[in-house]
Amino acid sequence: MLEKTGAPMNNTPSLPKQPFLEQVSVRELRGIGPQQAKKLSKMGFRTLQDLLFHLPIRYVDKTKISPIGGLQPFTSAVIEGVIKASDVVFGRRRSLVCRLQDDSGIISLRFFHFNRAQQEQLASGVAIRCFGEIRRGTTGAELYHPEYRVIDSQNPPPVEATLTPIYSISEGITQVRMRALCHQALERLRTGGLRELLPRASHQPYSLSEALQLLHQPPVDAPLNLLAAGEHPAQQRLALEELLAHHLSLLRLRRQIQQHPATQLAFYPDQEKRLLAQLPFALTAAQYRVGTEIYTDINQTVPMLRLVQGDVGSGKTVVAALAAIQTIANGYQAALMAPTEILSEQHRINFEGWFRPLGIRVAWLTGKIKGKARNVQLEAIASGEAKMVIGTHALFQDGVEFNSLALTIVDEQHRFGVHQRLAFRRKGHIASDGQNAMSDLPHQLIMTATPIPRTLAMSAYADLDCSIIDELPPGREPVETLVLSNVRRNDIVNRVRQACIAGRQAYWVCTLIEESDVLEAQAAEVTASELQLLIPELSIGLVHGRLKAREKIDVMAQFKAGNIHLLVATTVIEVGVDVPNASLMIIENAERLGLSQLHQLRGRVGRGDQQSHCVLLYSPPLSSVGSERLKIMRETNDGFKIAEKDLQLRGPGEVLGTRQTGDMVLRIADLQRDGHLLPEIKETAHHIMEQHPETVTALIERWLGDSDQYAQA
Ligand code: ADP
Ligand code: MG
Repeated sequence: MLEKTGAPMNNTPSLPKQPFLEQVSVRELRGIGPQQAKKLSKMGFRTLQDLLFHLPIRYVDKTKISPIGGLQPFTSAVIEGVIKASDVVFGRRRSLVCRLQDDSGIISLRFFHFNRAQQEQLASGVAIRCFGEIRRGTTGAELYHPEYRVIDSQNPPPVEATLTPIYSISEGITQVRMRALCHQALERLRTGGLRELLPRASHQPYSLSEALQLLHQPPVDAPLNLLAAGEHPAQQRLALEELLAHHLSLLRLRRQIQQHPATQLAFYPDQEKRLLAQLPFALTAAQYRVGTEIYTDINQTVPMLRLVQGDVGSGKTVVAALAAIQTIANGYQAALMAPTEILSEQHRINFEGWFRPLGIRVAWLTGKIKGKARNVQLEAIASGEAKMVIGTHALFQDGVEFNSLALTIVDEQHRFGVHQRLAFRRKGHIASDGQNAMSDLPHQLIMTATPIPRTLAMSAYADLDCSIIDELPPGREPVETLVLSNVRRNDIVNRVRQACIAGRQAYWVCTLIEESDVLEAQAAEVTASELQLLIPELSIGLVHGRLKAREKIDVMAQFKAGNIHLLVATTVIEVGVDVPNASLMIIENAERLGLSQLHQLRGRVGRGDQQSHCVLLYSPPLSSVGSERLKIMRETNDGFKIAEKDLQLRGPGEVLGTRQTGDMVLRIADLQRDGHLLPEIKETAHHIMEQHPETVTALIERWLGDSDQYAQA
């Protein structure tokens, strides 16, 4: 628990004029000229702090000399002895073999690459010390290519005093050089230069300097198992600080936004009733609860920042409509942004169906609506005649002026990424207030179908309040999933034929490894023609990202109307598309897609009341991870379980979507490993915000630097 008082630790000796290491260039290190500095900078090492934050990936123990007689295979050891024989051996590969003896035994050193100088140096009678891994070779225990140095056996040099760090290195720098640079940086660190930014109240066993010192040069008795697992308190200390910085950055952003006033929107129960009366179903309890949470938020004078998570098919669109109708009842505009044209069109159709009978005009704007049609939409938006505005990100480009925007809704947030989400927020801001920085900001609602594992949600969305629609509408049959080798493709084609003849509709999804629209579109075209040949009696449609918006929309409308039996598609249909009568989906090359993406795709079926099926086709052979992943898809329909598993198998970047990989670039922390720190991080972050606001910027700059991605917007 944190004490609510206490100043930040300041155990850095306060040497006057001591520059901070984040400002000291690597140029100042011995042996680094302008050329090398440039090279280092390319590798991401501009300052001494950069070097210090580059932690070793593992350690080796060179602190004691082991007796040769006691060596165990597959361990590494330092040994010392006298060369008894040295011969070039011509086996399958030519090698230099030296027999090295000490008081306890004898062992062979084997070099496959050697030059004449080495051969002469490693002569009989010479004393050497070497380090390497013990293998079982043809002569018994052997060391292949050990590191070695010739020594004076009367006067041997001291052994290493600490464990030896091994760094990840890129081309252009050697391990030895890297070690020497870090060594110099540590020397500088000992005289101060890294501010301690964690509050004393966080009770860390190590200060920042101590932690870095320990991790670059662990003492002989340091627990190697903890270090290897990344669970040493010194590593955890750094991971905590890094995650804290990310968290603070988002919290700060939230504060900045919430310093602005927002329009307080009153609740009109009759408007809610009128909307609900239009629907052919009753809200689920979860939809109702989330709706109420939103009403409470928009009834405040600070902007709402709320994330609604709900598995595919949980009915988020209606919840958005609930929020919109209240905004409109108050006399303001609401805008809904979708990531694709297809999805925005679908929303337009839904909202027109619901709102037009209530006398509310819906405007629709996407990048592909041009010319006169565009002007008509722009005018309706600017005049305030259209109270409900739907579109793609084109909505928030220059030239789009709202009349009285009080609510923005971002659908399928995972497709946008944090950057775009923030840019959108800002656009809304400019659009609504021109130059005046302190005028009203719209309330913001963000909806995502990618169930985000809790740990990730807390860090990537720390700036948002979170609501979860944790219930599917009643009567949904879970999708039955099959995993089949594409060797059985013909069986599947027959199955599709039968299903469609029986009045069902189906999706056939084509995927490619490379994210190339063009290639993917081609693959889909080929598949569509091929299927049409195989099943001439069906009407087959095709959608892919290269079609014109109008064409896509027409095909979707035909599919929805039931005029198309089988829709061949690329992953463009991944998000949002809702055709309840479609109850069969085939996904080709399913092994290439992420679990969350598969889950999204699969969510396109199972929306009606008949039993739906999803067939995951793979090209054999399937790797063991690949088969484990597809097995998960077969076993569960629970998006949260799938997301957790995806996080385990592939890491956070993948789970949040490629577009967001850049958002959580972590140097030291690992969300999977360090997720358990998040509750503490949350608490510490609030403590720092309240008690030590002056350290917030320093922390963010230290860990996120110029790239404080969140602050850009
Ligand atoms: P998602 O959360 O994936 O965006 P949608 O909002 O597209 O889900 O809703 C999926 C389908 O479920 C739509 O056809 C919608 O009309 C329907 N639906 C939404 N809420 C309910 C409900 N409470 N009962 C029955 N059907 C519902
Ligand atoms: Mg949706």
